[in-house]
Amino acid sequence: MSGHRVLVVDDSDLARTLLTRTLEKAGFAVTAASDGAAGALVALRELPSVVVTDLDMPVMDGHQLLRLLKSEPSTASMPVVILTSHGEAPSRFWGSRIGADAYLTKDCEPAELVATVGRLASRGPTTERSHATPELGPLDVLGRVVRQLDASLLHATLVNTLLERCLGATDLHAAGRETLQVVARVVDANLLAIGVTEPDAATLHVLITKPVSLRAAERFVSTVLATMDPGPRVIPDVVLTGATDGDGDADASNIVSFALPLRGASGLLALSPSEPQQFESTSRHLIQDLTTHAGLVLDNARLGQRLQELSTLDGLTRLLNHRAIHEVLGHELERADRHGRNVAVIICDLDFFKRVNDTHGHVAGDTALCAAASALTRVLRVSDACGRYGGEEFLAVLPETDLEAARRVAERLRRAVAEHPAALPSGASVTLTASFGVASHAELAAGATADTLVSLADSRLYQAKAAGRNCVRP
Ligand code: GH3
Ligand code: MG
Ligand code: MG
Repeated sequence: MSGHRVLVVDDSDLARTLLTRTLEKAGFAVTAASDGAAGALVALRELPSVVVTDLDMPVMDGHQLLRLLKSEPSTASMPVVILTSHGEAPSRFWGSRIGADAYLTKDCEPAELVATVGRLASRGPTTERSHATPELGPLDVLGRVVRQLDASLLHATLVNTLLERCLGATDLHAAGRETLQVVARVVDANLLAIGVTEPDAATLHVLITKPVSLRAAERFVSTVLATMDPGPRVIPDVVLTGATDGDGDADASNIVSFALPLRGASGLLALSPSEPQQFESTSRHLIQDLTTHAGLVLDNARLGQRLQELSTLDGLTRLLNHRAIHEVLGHELERADRHGRNVAVIICDLDFFKRVNDTHGHVAGDTALCAAASALTRVLRVSDACGRYGGEEFLAVLPETDLEAARRVAERLRRAVAEHPAALPSGASVTLTASFGVASHAELAAGATADTLVSLADSRLYQAKAAGRNCVRP
């Protein structure tokens, strides 16, 4: 072990003497210091191969010494062994969190200490000798401790702010916007974005902090989207927060990006610094340190979004489920009552659907159901809602629509289903038809419930079936 210098830091004269003797006997060259502050000075000046430190010491304790050494570039990879008389759980936890390479208690066998120091020393010199700073004085050490404390506090405060503001967000855009607003407080950037690329979706949220031109925003978005690389069939869901009516520019060739660690997806934080030349390493480090927590926030929002989808969307057709479409109808009826507006419903039931299952099998039946669902949604307006009401029954809610207009929509829906045969997995195709019952809020007395309106439409659906199917009633 000759050649390896070990720094022993302990405030007890006896412990220092014993440790020095044990390590020297094993062939190490030993320097001893009687306190963390003195130890830090030696470590930074001489760059020993390993530091062995006690925890309880008067001026600077072992944890503080460890944190300082791990935060200084020249000593960050220098192995540190904590050797303490009381190996309590909180102290072990803190030691390992802040980067201790080994944690031993003073009642351990000398051979164990020697083996541990030997193992760590044999990792080889971690820092060039030229990085040693022999001219360093005690005040410099103090200054570095204070700076390091301040940086940790800033980081902790930022993480706290991020978690406080963002953990409640239950969708990706809300989480992205809140995260970007926190980031925007510590960097000077005109445009910031968070992108999440999933196997079948891509979400991009852009925060504009100073009004920029629409062209500048567009250039930024397309550059970031290119980096996100969504699959060829994925249509990215892009939302911008902030004004695009200014004349501010953003240099699309100067985008700084950071990877955000996500589960089963890839995340990206991108920003366009206001002064690219002055985007210093402090800002870079600050954001880099936030990426883990930003990833956590986004994963949490994805989970919330997924739960929301699971509880409101039908698993097969991805339309709203029974409960969700009923809720939409309830809200619309309330609005209609309050503001004297209209709302209509259309119930649709596929004709002789049992035969599709009987002839082609249940899996083909599922495919045909999805095809019918997308034929319906293609015809409806974005302001209409459509849900799977039951097995092969659908309910559409049409705000601001009277009976006659709703009948015309139902007729278009009927043609859309009948004119687009559903392609089955076998390669065959099947032509579906459906029957429709339509009813409007205006036909009922004020305060009528969703159930009454649906019942009226349902009774008309039965009339359509009785009239030979593939038709609309009234
Ligand atoms: P009608 O014209 O009178 O409505 O005849 P129909 O055969 O469509 O009506 P019926 O109520 O007798 O049968 C409905 C069929 O829809 C039976 C059921 O297996 C099928 N179905 C309901 N939900 C699903 C589903 O999720 N997947 C598949 N493949 N079939 C379904
Ligand atoms: Mg049916
Ligand atoms: Mg049915």
